[in-house]
Amino acid sequence: MQIAFKKVNKEGIEFSLNTEELNFFGKLYTKSNGLVSCKAKIEGETSHICDRCGDDLVLKIDEDIDIFISNGVYENNEKDEIDVVEFYDEIIYLDEILNSEVEALRSDYHYCNKCINFKE
Ligand SMILES: [Zn+2]
Repeated sequence: MQIAFKKVNKEGIEFSLNTEELNFFGKLYTKSNGLVSCKAKIEGETSHICDRCGDDLVLKIDEDIDIFISNGVYENNEKDEIDVVEFYDEIIYLDEILNSEVEALRSDYHYCNKCINFKE
């Protein structure tokens, strides 16, 4: 799903991106020149493997997303700690944001029901 930067305004526009497994929905607001605020949520389930025993497990996702999206290279003067995703052709690719957020969640440790009781 793609949204042009110029369609985003200060009042915010809603979006909803649904894959087979996940729903990614929320609002995009213009923050300042070239910077868009994305306040959203990812909900759903995705398959994963247990980091202890390697069994398949279902990873339940219920995650608030609060990031900034930059139209072009984001140049900050101060050392702010904000999370900025950059796109370079005037278009916000929501699928890419969803993928990278989900990959970040998957990179945490996850344990199946059997192993969760064995945590040292
Ligand atoms: Zn396990």
